[in-house]
Amino acid sequence: MKDFQISPEKVRLDYFLQIVGRQRVREYSISSFQPGKSVDLTMAVTEYETKFERQITGVCSGYLKSIEQTYPVPCWLKKGTMDFTEKKPMIFVGPGTGVAAFRSAIQKYVGKTKLVLIFGCRSESDDYYYQEEWKSYGDNLKVITAFSREN
Ligand SMILES: Cc1cc2nc3c(=O)[nH]c(=O)nc-3n(C[C@H](O)[C@H](O)[C@H](O)COP(=O)(O)OP(=O)(O)OC[C@H]3O[C@@H](n4cnc5c(N)ncnc54)[C@H](O)[C@@H]3O)c2cc1C
Repeated sequence: MKDFQISPEKVRLDYFLQIVGRQRVREYSISSFQPGKSVDLTMAVTEYETKFERQITGVCSGYLKSIEQTYPVPCWLKKGTMDFTEKKPMIFVGPGTGVAAFRSAIQKYVGKTKLVLIFGCRSESDDYYYQEEWKSYGDNLKVITAFSREN
C-alpha cells in the first residue's frame, strides 16, 4: 500500500486482512553447543529496496535488532533434520548465516573427527563470521573460504 501511496484508512478492514495474511513463523538455527541455559543465533538483518525505492527491513530480523537484549521473545525449539556422526569425517558447506547450524556441530565434534568447513561471504573484513574461533581450532578444522566482493 505504501508503494502505491494508498492510505490504510481507505481500505476496508476485511480486504486488508485478506491482503496481509497471517505472519508466518521465522526459523533460526542454533549456532552454539554449550550445555547451559542460553544458545547463540547467527542472524542477518534482511534489508532491501523495492522497485519503488522504498527501504524494507525484514519483519522478524528487524524486530529482533530493534529490541533490548534482555527483552523476552516467545520462541520454541524444533528438532533439526541434519544427522551428524563423529564416526566419519564431515564436510560442511555454509555460506553467510548458513554457517549457523554447522558452528554448533563444529563445537560439538572438533577434535573427535576430521572436519572441513567451506564458507563463503562478501568480504573477509565485513562478514567472515567466527574466523577467530575457527583459527583457535588449529589443525582440527580445515577452512576453505570464498569471498565474492573482495577488492
Ligand atoms: C530452517 C531455517 C533455518 C534458518 N536459519 C537462519 C539463521 O540461522 N540465520 C538467519 O539469519 N536466517 C535463518 N533463516 C531465515 C529466517 O528464518 C528468516 O527468513 C529471515 O531472518 C528473514 O525474516 P524476516 O522476518 O526478517 O524478513 P521478512 O519480513 O520475512 O522478509 C523476507 C522476504 O523479503 C524478501 N526479500 C529479501 N531480500 C530481498 C531483496 N533483496 N529483494 C527483494 N525482496 C527481498 C523476500 O520475499 C523474503 O522472503 C532460516 C530459515 C529456515 C527455514
